[in-house]
Amino acid sequence: MTDPETLAQRVRDGELRLHELEAHADAETAATARRRFVAAETGADLAAIGDYAFPAEAAETAIENLVGGAQLPMGVAGPVPVDGGAADGEYHLPLATTEGALVASVNRGLSVLRTAGGASARVTKNGMTRAPVFRVSGVVEAAEVVEWVGEHEDRLREAAESTTSHGELLGIEPYVVGDSVYLRFAYDTKDAMGMNMATIATGAACDVVEAETPASLVAVSGNLCSDKKPAAINAVEGRGRSVTADVVIPGDVVEDRLGTTAAGIVEANTRKNLVGSAKAGSLGFNAHAANVVAAAFLATGQDEAHVVEGSNAITTMETRENGVDGSADLYASISLASLPVGTVGGGTKLPTQAEALDVLGVRGGGDPAGSNADELAEVIAVGALAGELSLLAALSSRHLASAHEDLGR
Ligand code: NAP
Repeated sequence: MTDPETLAQRVRDGELRLHELEAHADAETAATARRRFVAAETGADLAAIGDYAFPAEAAETAIENLVGGAQLPMGVAGPVPVDGGAADGEYHLPLATTEGALVASVNRGLSVLRTAGGASARVTKNGMTRAPVFRVSGVVEAAEVVEWVGEHEDRLREAAESTTSHGELLGIEPYVVGDSVYLRFAYDTKDAMGMNMATIATGAACDVVEAETPASLVAVSGNLCSDKKPAAINAVEGRGRSVTADVVIPGDVVEDRLGTTAAGIVEANTRKNLVGSAKAGSLGFNAHAANVVAAAFLATGQDEAHVVEGSNAITTMETRENGVDGSADLYASISLASLPVGTVGGGTKLPTQAEALDVLGVRGGGDPAGSNADELAEVIAVGALAGELSLLAALSSRHLASAHEDLGR
């Protein structure tokens, strides 16, 4: 029998384990059975969790032990003109969040960018990394392994690229700590965020290193990657897309639309984002880039844990004399060092996330490959720039608390 109640009873009787239900029923029936089991065990009502919009089968590569969906409100900010390396035109940015005032804040910032003629954005570096760790007998052997790797990068590239039709090995950076050798592989993963792609490709290269050198693989990820952990290496070397956005906003627009002055925003940025962050030992020299990154990631099906890397951003603000009326214009930029994004694979295939990618016009593979993910990175960077402007202006004009009271409570 494959009806949900019978399956739930078999789990209760210890005949089946929760993760075995898909072997006895289709994905949706299995999820219903699991909800019934969990509801009976915990006393929780799972009616809302069971009211999900994607086909259960579509979630099979995204999750195990499916019980339903976690829904978040999604809003949209914009439109904003973006002059990017890949982005070109006006964009609405979908944002999924539970933080009241966030979409309003980004929307205000984008509206100011629009009034200023739009923002520029460029992906300046692209490399998804995986860094396996090998055991060697000591530093002499470590040096031999590093030398071999340097002389045989072509062989390693051939092995790595044999596992993918899209990925390209960009380089291998070696690091030695005593009897451990770390090889930081970086790949152009085109429109894929590329963690699975890079891991599989690196695994094939590791087989060659083990066959040809005395090094013994301990772990395909040795944490120098550095995946989903705060790490200076990502802030300096980048991981995924390194992307920068900037704008010059006329002084009168700053005053009319943001209720403050260019000098006021520059001071708030310097004392808060630069000096305050330095004093805190922060890796993020920004106001709240992670807010926009997280909301855009959730909306478009990115790996949400990569918000850790996405918070590695530096915001700069300068006054620029315009020579027109004596009031200074505002130069504003944000540089996100490590933004792992993709428009194929992972969570991008889920229906609501795919629709959000459609809003941006970047669903699926780009032409040329990689251009859709570049475009997505550039628009997210412009969204983050808008968020920085709006928050710094609110702080500078002391409107932050009242905006949160009005919109978030
Ligand atoms: P994926 O869903 O595993 O693979 C995407 C595949 O799409 C690529 O490998 C590629 O196949 C194919 N593809 C088709 N058109 C493409 C295009 N235009 N550009 C690039 N690829 C294209 O996705 P992934 O990005 O490699 O990995 C993302 C997943 O990894 C997420 O679900 C994330 O949560 C998970 N993740 C894994 C790890 C890990 O250590 N394994 C760590 C963190 C996150 P070919 O390679 O055959 O060309």
